[in-house]
Amino acid sequence: MREASYYILEKDKKVRCVLCPKQCLISEGKTGGCGVRENSEGKLYTLAYSKPVAIHVDPIEKKPLYHFHPGAQILSIGTYGCNLSCKFCQNFDISQEFEKPDFDRITEVTPEEILKICRDKGYKFVAFTYNEPSVFFEYMIDMAKLCKTEGIKTVMVSNGQINEEPLRELIDCIDAFNIDLKSYNPEFYKKICGGEIETTKQTIKIIVEKGKHLEVTFLLIEGLNDNEQEFHELCRFLASLDKEIVLHISRAFPRYEMDFNPTPLWLLKNFEKIAKLNLKKIYVGNVH
Ligand code: SF4
Repeated sequence: MREASYYILEKDKKVRCVLCPKQCLISEGKTGGCGVRENSEGKLYTLAYSKPVAIHVDPIEKKPLYHFHPGAQILSIGTYGCNLSCKFCQNFDISQEFEKPDFDRITEVTPEEILKICRDKGYKFVAFTYNEPSVFFEYMIDMAKLCKTEGIKTVMVSNGQINEEPLRELIDCIDAFNIDLKSYNPEFYKKICGGEIETTKQTIKIIVEKGKHLEVTFLLIEGLNDNEQEFHELCRFLASLDKEIVLHISRAFPRYEMDFNPTPLWLLKNFEKIAKLNLKKIYVGNVH
């Protein structure tokens, strides 16, 4: 286990994790809301360091990134854990439904070993994805720094729920981002996802300000986040930062705790039209 970054020691050996806006106060022997950061005797440790549960090679378009080295194959890495609890999570088996003993069964793959895989196989791109990479911050940043030394480009696919200071530490090591903006309604973030929207908006702003490549994904769910006015506001927010931001409007399928119909094609087309009022690069995804 590796000691975590970004925490404060509080009274009675409790620690406060300040990596993400949840700011969990964690008692001795417990983990924070993401399930992968544990207080042991007043020190915070990351359980996910060098413990990936998914390593695959994907087309870069699957992240999705359409305007960053199209056609590239990308080594994609994820661990357990997430700092949101979206009731419609498309990857709930690794983000939500795991237990601490599961970590002991995972084969260790260090950042150095990831670099060796890239060298041996000739991979030029690495993605931190599948679950929320912020929760394995230390593993991600060590991998990204090593990749940079050999000219390998890195990508973070994230919900954007990371505090400003760690984001600014990370951002210079990462070449491109896909950020989920799940709704423009703060109540949706709170009630359906267990998070808050402002940090994700701040993350998007900082990525744009730093001139990094950014694509945004909006997962459209009929009856849940299909308010046209709110979506119009979301697009206006992105356009106010940069009209060239790429927006993916993705079709949702029922998963985890929510039962709903797969997003109808007419609704996706309708939202595409709304997005075109403010943005130039819009793609409808998850459809054949
Ligand atoms: S990263 Fe995890 S432990 Fe830290 S504040 Fe967020 S949810 Fe809590």
